[in-house]
Amino acid sequence: MTDPDNFKETGKASNRRLYFEDAYRREFESRVLEFRSFEGRPALVLEATCFYPEGGGQPGDLGEIDGVKVVGVIEDQGQILHLLEKEVRAEKVKGKIDWARRYDFMQQHSGQHLLSGVFFELLGAETLSFHLGEETASIELDLAQLGEVDTEKVERRSAEIIFENRSIKTYFVEEREINQIPFRKKPAKSGLIRVVEIDRFDYSACGGTHVRQTGEIGLVKIIGQEKIRKNVRVYFVCGYRALKDYQHKEKILARLATGLGTSIIQLPLTVERLQFEARDLRKRCLKLREEMNQYEAEKIMAEARGIIIDRLFEDRTAEEARHLGLKIVHSGRFLVIFGIKGESRNHLLLTRAAEIPLDLRKWMDWLRENFEARGGGSDSLIEMALPKSQNLEEIISELKNKIAPELEGNHS
Ligand SMILES: [Zn+2]
Repeated sequence: MTDPDNFKETGKASNRRLYFEDAYRREFESRVLEFRSFEGRPALVLEATCFYPEGGGQPGDLGEIDGVKVVGVIEDQGQILHLLEKEVRAEKVKGKIDWARRYDFMQQHSGQHLLSGVFFELLGAETLSFHLGEETASIELDLAQLGEVDTEKVERRSAEIIFENRSIKTYFVEEREINQIPFRKKPAKSGLIRVVEIDRFDYSACGGTHVRQTGEIGLVKIIGQEKIRKNVRVYFVCGYRALKDYQHKEKILARLATGLGTSIIQLPLTVERLQFEARDLRKRCLKLREEMNQYEAEKIMAEARGIIIDRLFEDRTAEEARHLGLKIVHSGRFLVIFGIKGESRNHLLLTRAAEIPLDLRKWMDWLRENFEARGGGSDSLIEMALPKSQNLEEIISELKNKIAPELEGNHS
């Protein structure tokens, strides 16, 4: 095992990374090595820093240096650059990281090591990539699918290791010592390698920040998954995020339960019952509509003074009007012209009994050209949509005048 201080001698880094020595350190003082600018922003290179630079799936720290906001921390050719909101000119500066944010990342990141270790132990699944964001954390697994039973097993096993409160140790090894460490995944890196070990359970090469003991992960909960290529991407929450997630979901359930006048426990049964009732009501509704249509159709036919029946509706859908129209032409020798006033557009329905030998499509072009109508149909039924600006009453009356002479020859 090697001393982390040697890390800078490898030439890989010229700044002392205080977060390697103590991930819990939030404040520090350091000499400024260089004032630079990066993409138009003032940037500082420090002799030592607690700020973790973006990398390895973990976002960079935020915070402040001499009271000025640090808006990003990146690594550029082995140097850690602190990007600042405005320039800081001093030989020595005081830095402070946004601790709540960093601790959240430490919980998620440590939880990821644990979760990846458990997936490997129980299912032989390798972690192919890791993403940690401000809101979500996910790993991509070399797994075709993940079922409910396995998910619960993985969560349960993770909890076990959390409750054992195992230590999470970090140390450096030389490249030639790699074979002495039972890595879950052999590091591809050369030179000094930083090992993160969940005591006797998982060994990973990682340069991120982690909590000291598994107990601090609090809980690992899988909250979603999606198929990606041939693999599965698993979303998870740890620590305070898991608590927040639980609180949020509890609130949703409580609101639903209150709204439905039941308890959270009774919610599934209540929803099932409501779904059943809704299906039943829908069926009865259809049956009643059918009966109503029948009555209405009979009434309209009794009132009819010729072959053409025309009506203007304002309180029904085009579909309901079509049902009614078809009922009429199926029961008697009629030609139906229905206008239906809609929310955004009006509709026109034209249909006829089978024994009237008229091709209704011949009025489609006339409607299109004169009234911006759109639609289509067959020789016995056409349906057109019209803009609200067109006068439906007038169109119906004009249509009636056009059709009436054609029916005269067929009058019985
Ligand atoms: Zn890590």
